[in-house]
Amino acid sequence: MSTQPGPPTAHPHRPHRPRILTGDTPTHTGLHLGHFVGSLENRLRLQDEYDCYFLIANVHAFTTLADKPELVRANTIGIVKDWLAVGLDPEKSTFVLQSEVPAIAELTFLFAMLLPFNKVMRNPTLKTEIDSKGLGDSYSFGFPMYAVGQCADILAFRPELVPVGEDQEAHIEMCRDVALKFNQMYCAVGNRVPAEEHAKAGTPGASGVFPVPKAKIGRVARLVGLDGVQKMSKSLGNAIFLYDSEKDVQKKVNKIVTGRASSTSPIDPKNTLVQYIDAFLPGERAEQIKADYASGKEVMDGHVKAELAAAINAIIDPMRKRREKLESPEGEARVIEVIRRGVKKANVVAEETLLMTKRAMRIEFGERRLDFPG
Ligand code: ATP
Ligand code: MG
Repeated sequence: MSTQPGPPTAHPHRPHRPRILTGDTPTHTGLHLGHFVGSLENRLRLQDEYDCYFLIANVHAFTTLADKPELVRANTIGIVKDWLAVGLDPEKSTFVLQSEVPAIAELTFLFAMLLPFNKVMRNPTLKTEIDSKGLGDSYSFGFPMYAVGQCADILAFRPELVPVGEDQEAHIEMCRDVALKFNQMYCAVGNRVPAEEHAKAGTPGASGVFPVPKAKIGRVARLVGLDGVQKMSKSLGNAIFLYDSEKDVQKKVNKIVTGRASSTSPIDPKNTLVQYIDAFLPGERAEQIKADYASGKEVMDGHVKAELAAAINAIIDPMRKRREKLESPEGEARVIEVIRRGVKKANVVAEETLLMTKRAMRIEFGERRLDFPG
């Protein structure tokens, strides 16, 4: 008699609503406009329709901040405040703190076996980050590991969609590779079964553990930073943050270099100012300003920048006000409570995924229970 359990035959708690997983790394105390147009807008729009899991990748923050644990903790709290201020609703969605979901770490190790080392090291997002963050060749072993870990962050929740900015596409592709390979290797799903059918396909009686998730890229796939070169990023000092004061927004916008010789010279259509006009001014107004720039009509950059800063301030003002309210002992207590509640809910799903994974890999010898008192 075999002591090994067979492949899992059903999803014990198939969700009623399809799931979403996405998240942010607490490498900075808060979020910026790139996050808003790249991912947060989609999260807000989809949180009623989908069963959403929003992850704070606090373990991954240690890839570049290993010597700053207090900072990572403060940033974690800051990100949750931003989420609440933007309108992510912990009553509708689950906030997941990576460090408190052990199944994610375990899945990371298991998935690492399914990814060729050289493929991970060739991941273009990692390469760009190594360059733009000036990591040289001194980055930790954990740095490339985070790309494998991100596959576990995602697959632990078996989502169908992952709303992210364009920079994350390579990571989602790796995650899809892991899901496909896992289902084929351990769940008897045939090589020719299309990705979208994996979750229900397989040999009779068997089923693929993982839906193969798709990236959902935001309205602006890659918002350029104030430097006009890199993407807007928390770590690169080129961001307008969602909690910046009205004056700071104006100051930052004023610093954008337009490179025009005079007020009647044309502007490079790829210039940062033009990209922001497209991203933050109403469509018709944006088209009119661009036409004025192109026609050689006199356009004062200062006026355009003032209009742009006002439009950005109008978007972030309600968020800023809600965030200010969270800067209080009650606000901190609310954040901790939201995290603790999310951790409990997240662990139910992630433990279920881990159990299914271990069964499929024939390494499960008895179910375990995590205990989260309070
Ligand atoms: P870090 O510099 O630490 O990598 P980051 O600013 O890139 O920080 P992340 O936490 O890595 O932020 O990204 C969170 C989410 O926001 C991801 O889905 C990412 O694709 C998206 N995002 C980040 N920056 C931008 C941007 N400039 N334009 C569009 N989407 C973005
Ligand atoms: Mg990033």
